[in-house]
Amino acid sequence: MAELNITLLAGGVGGAKAAEGLAASQYASGTRVVGNIADDEEFHGLWVSPDIDTLIYSLADKIDRQQGWGRKGETHQVLQELALLGQETWMTLGDLDLATHIYRTALKKQGMSASEITRRLAQYHGASLPILLPTDDVVQTKLHTDKGYLSFQEYFVREHCDAQVKRVEYVGAETATPCEATLEQIQNCDLVVLAPSNPIVSIGAILSVPGIAEALENTSAYVIAISPLIAGKTVKGPADQMLAAMGKPANSMGIYQCYQRFIDALVIDESDRQEASALHDLGVDVLVTPSFMSNTDEKRDLLSKVVDFALQRQTIRVA
Ligand code: GDP
Repeated sequence: MAELNITLLAGGVGGAKAAEGLAASQYASGTRVVGNIADDEEFHGLWVSPDIDTLIYSLADKIDRQQGWGRKGETHQVLQELALLGQETWMTLGDLDLATHIYRTALKKQGMSASEITRRLAQYHGASLPILLPTDDVVQTKLHTDKGYLSFQEYFVREHCDAQVKRVEYVGAETATPCEATLEQIQNCDLVVLAPSNPIVSIGAILSVPGIAEALENTSAYVIAISPLIAGKTVKGPADQMLAAMGKPANSMGIYQCYQRFIDALVIDESDRQEASALHDLGVDVLVTPSFMSNTDEKRDLLSKVVDFALQRQTIRVA
């Protein structure tokens, strides 16, 4: 069969699991990942891009698998010294990881685009899939909470998500220009997979860039989303609380509502099977399957199943 051209929209941890699943599957060579840049923030004068780095380190098998982020075998001498110097060090940046941030910041200062820097970092580390960005402009997720107006990392890392989110803002999105290569990839691919990432702060942030949601609406590709909820709860992170804060149910229907403008199908966990018929009634294809991924085999098996399901549902045009 000719190669299937697949676009994966991915955030950090859940996104990287799906990316690794596709990278380990027979569909690897036709897959491109669109990552989230809206968690980016400056620390110690350095531009840090946590979701993109999680994708790169995961796809290069350099990730700390216990944490799901950061480098394996990492040390923290620089951070310890910064703490002694009186700097805030709640954002854990390891010594190896800091090389990435120094490199990114230096090239950014020279005027290189975020996409090209990402391409170089992915190539250097040996990431097994190409990574595209929604935009080369700066877009940052900010949260209006009961603890004030917080950047995403302040909320997620410093406050450990212990703040009530009232409203989410994607600062800079309105005026951001989408990357042409990303729009073309979405428009010309055969299949779009939305990783089981946070639908508001990961996938939602990608969709906030003008043109991306429209490309998904207009593409002839089949669009399938994997729910990040298992038994109505997130595996990790605040997606369930955030859905509630957005006035959406914290279940498969809430995930569907986030993507209803453009999805053809939703993958839900076996434990949420009872929600399938309501989704069917709305005309969406539903794949019910165990969706927790703890190792490479489970990642490859789930993503292969997702692609095979899409292939069965639609005669996907292959190049
Ligand atoms: P972040 O940017 O690092 O928070 O990562 P993402 O937004 O990509 O992923 C966070 C989401 O991944 C959470 O809502 C989790 O519930 C979900 N997630 C993590 N692991 C799994 C898994 O194995 N299966 C499923 N279905 N969801 C997962």
